[in-house]
Amino acid sequence: MSMVSVNVEEKLFQNRYRVDAGRPHIRIRNADVCTNDCREKSCTFVCPASCYKVEGNGSVTLITDGCLECGSCRILCTDHDNIEWEYPRGGHGILFKFG
Ligand code: SF4
Ligand code: SF4
Repeated sequence: MSMVSVNVEEKLFQNRYRVDAGRPHIRIRNADVCTNDCREKSCTFVCPASCYKVEGNGSVTLITDGCLECGSCRILCTDHDNIEWEYPRGGHGILFKFG
């Protein structure tokens, strides 16, 4: 039996994402808190789908397309409680492929 190694990107590529246009399921409550009060900006390096990005001016942008609904960003932001997080509406969001 041979072992096939598959990297994370290849695995992620097997998933499909259905965008709910204009209705992001995660929202940053107060962008100023990210820019001025959050030194760690943990969301920007923990997200497996790279949804959060630090901009040159220190602000943080969030694009939820491709979100895997893992919930890590919300958990890591508990100090600032600055993320409003819901599951996408039925039929939208990540569609996991099994097998
Ligand atoms: S961890 Fe929370 S407060 Fe900090 S940058 Fe991310 S969303 Fe903003
Ligand atoms: S729930 Fe997970 S995949 Fe989605 S934005 Fe948060 S950390 Fe990224």
